[in-house]
This record gives sequence, C-alpha cells and structure tokens, in this order.
Amino acid sequence: MAGERQRAMAAELAAFRDAVRRFVEAELAPHEARWGRQQHVDRDAWRAVGGMGLLLADVPERYGGAGATFAHECVVFEELQRANVTSFGKHVHSIVAHYLLDYGSEAQKMRWLPKMARGEMIAAIAMSEPGAGSDLQGVRTRAVRQGDEYVVDGSKTFISNGFLADLVCLVVKTDPAAGAKGVSLLMVETANLPGYRCGRILDKVGMHGQDTAELFFDGVRVPAENLLGGEQGRGFYQLMQQLPWERTIVAVAAVAAIERAVELTTEYVRQRQAFGRPLIEMQNTRFRLAECRTVAHVARVFIDDCIERVMDGTIDAATASMAKWWTTEQQCRVIDECLQLFGGYGYMMDYPIGKMYADARVQKIYGGTNEIMKELIARSL
Ligand SMILES: Cc1cc2nc3c(=O)[nH]c(=O)nc-3n(C[C@H](O)[C@H](O)[C@H](O)COP(=O)(O)OP(=O)(O)OC[C@H]3O[C@@H](n4cnc5c(N)ncnc54)[C@H](O)[C@@H]3O)c2cc1C
Repeated sequence: MAGERQRAMAAELAAFRDAVRRFVEAELAPHEARWGRQQHVDRDAWRAVGGMGLLLADVPERYGGAGATFAHECVVFEELQRANVTSFGKHVHSIVAHYLLDYGSEAQKMRWLPKMARGEMIAAIAMSEPGAGSDLQGVRTRAVRQGDEYVVDGSKTFISNGFLADLVCLVVKTDPAAGAKGVSLLMVETANLPGYRCGRILDKVGMHGQDTAELFFDGVRVPAENLLGGEQGRGFYQLMQQLPWERTIVAVAAVAAIERAVELTTEYVRQRQAFGRPLIEMQNTRFRLAECRTVAHVARVFIDDCIERVMDGTIDAATASMAKWWTTEQQCRVIDECLQLFGGYGYMMDYPIGKMYADARVQKIYGGTNEIMKELIARSL
C-alpha cells in the first residue's frame, strides 16, 4: 500500500516536473539574459509564474497557494536552476510565505498570502545589515512602539528581491538591551511608504538579474498589527526555526546545478574533438566526469532524504546545515571541473556553464555562510 502511494506520488511529481519544465523554458528562460542586463526580472513574469500556481506551491489553497507539498516546491526550484534562470527570486518569496504560515495571524495570512501566490506582491526578507551578517544579534535597525504603530529607523543590505519588494519581512530590534530576546519581525508594505527608500541595485559577481539591493528606513511608520507572532521579542527564535527550511532549499538548487553541469558537460565532451577523437575518449575527461557524476548521485540521495525529512517535520538544524555547506561546496567544485572540460568556450558567456560558474559562488555565502554551517553542526556533536 505504502509502495503504491509512493509510486503514484512519483508519477504525479514527474508529470508536474514536465509541465514546469515546459513553462520555464518557454516563458522565463528566453528573458534571463535581458533580466541580467536590467538587473531585475519583469513584474509580468511574477504574475505569469503566479498564474501557473508555481509561486507558493506548498501553501494551502485557502491562502491562495497550490495546496501541494514541499516536494512540488522543490521541483520548481530545480527546474528554475536547470534552465539557468537564477534571476527569479522565488526562494526568498517562498521563505517569507513560510514565516507567514507559521507565525502569522489568520488576518495576516489572508491579507498577504493570496497576493503573494498570484505574484501581485513580491516579498523579501531583510536580515543583513552593513554591520551585521553572520552575527544576526548585532542588527541595529530599531523599531520603537508609539501607540498603535512602530517607528522604524535603520538600513539593510544585500536584500534579494529588494528593488521589486512590495512586502518586506524585516528583522528589527525592539529592545536593544535584551540580546536575542530583543529581536522582532515586522511585515512592512513598501508601496507609497514615507521614509522608506530602496537604494541602488548591487553589482554582483553573478546572479545579475536578481535585484539584490540596499533598503533604508527613516522614521518609517508600520502598523503594530504587522508584528509577526503576536508578541515582541520572538524574532530570533522565529529565524532559528525557519533557517533549516531555507537552508534545505539552497541545497536543493545546488544539487540541481550539479546534475545539470554534469549533463551539459557530458553532451559537450561527446561532440568536441581534439587530437582526432572526442574529448570523452580521453582518460582524464572520463575520470573527471566519473567523479562529478558520483558527487551528483551522492548529493541527490542526501537531498532527497532532506526533502522527505522537511515533509515529515524531522529535519534538524545540523542536518540542514550539512546539506547547505556540503552541496554548495560540491556545486562550486563540480562546476569548476566541468568548465575546465569546455576549455576556452567554458569561459564564454555563450555557453551556460560560464553563467553557472558565476552564479554558484554566492551559494557558499548566503543563507548563512558555510563556516557558520560548520559551527552549527559542531554544536550538535
Ligand atoms: C547575493 C546575495 C544575496 C543575499 N540575500 C539576502 C537576503 O535576501 N536577505 C538577507 O537578510 N541577507 C541576504 N544576503 C546576506 C548574506 O546572508 C550575508 O552576506 C551572509 O550571512 C554573511 O554575512 P556578511 O556578508 O556580513 O559576512 P560576515 O558575517 O562579515 O562574514 C565574513 C567572513 O567571516 C566568517 N565568519 C563570520 N563569523 C564567523 C564565525 N563565528 N566563525 C567562523 N567564521 C565566521 C564568514 O563565514 C565569512 O567568511 C545576501 C548576500 C548576497 C551576497
């Protein structure tokens, strides 16, 4: 019976993957290069992805989501990665949806999730500041309660979806003397908001089409009802609870990139000739690709286990940290090996492997650096 259910689920996911792949290849991939040049995706693309039900795949239907599973969400992440569409900031959008699902009041969920699911509202999560990245307790953005509002002052940097964001899940200090217990999360609607300003879109090594930006808050008034979780001082706990989910999706993209790099490189070395024979016939090429293929396989088994553990609620911080650091490290290593096998063409942007190389590097940094991941794992020893 369990086996039958698993087979039915696998078949359903395969059909879903097919549909997502066709949509991504036809509707998003052709725009990726242009999005890179303009440093952000088109708003229309958000509505199109929302219209397909792919923005909040695992959010219940009563909140506008597709009511499917985390495995469906992962299929969307994998297919975006496979098509090299790294501009589209679905990751942070989904992360914010999960904060709302887990800590939002019914009114907050009904207010924001359906619009997010349709792509009418684009969400960002703003933790990092110029002086606080890994050390989140060091954030300085301040929210002071005044009547039924909070007054917010401070700035954030490196915020994905920052330029387009209509809704920002903002990490603030509500009680600077209380350490971790002084951190709260405020949902900020940015449209026509006095005192709110988005700075320049940051110039990055890769992921050029992702609108990573600085955000400034100067006496911004936010309704107190936009506090997430009912009471002040719960923000650090909320962040720690959500981070395993976020780290798993970084790892999901890493594994999809590894698999795609091996696939593209295998195709290339079959047709590229040197010294009168295809590159695939040379022992170095064969051994390198054999190693990369092995990594892809081990990574797939590991990530599939993590995905299942997210779905049954047993993923823990240490395992998610292992997945995040190890798969992203392998992503960079495997793509580097693959690029080498393309020779000079690997360094040309005409071939997808060059973009994959540049896009991969940040995976070891955001979502918590890989050094911080090892700290977290070490704490569980
Ligand atoms: C493209 C991009 C998108 C991003 N998107 C977002 C976003 O949407 N929202 C958001 O809030 N942030 C975002 N970030 C920020 C990202 O999460 C931070 O850059 C990251 O957490 C590291 O913080 P930092 O840059 O301040 O580096 P630092 O914390 O200054 O770290 C510098 C170095 O010191 C190491 N280090 C720090 N502490 C320790 C320690 N205790 N032990 C050992 N080594 C340590 C780090 O591992 C790193 O190698 C993004 C960043 C980038 C580049």
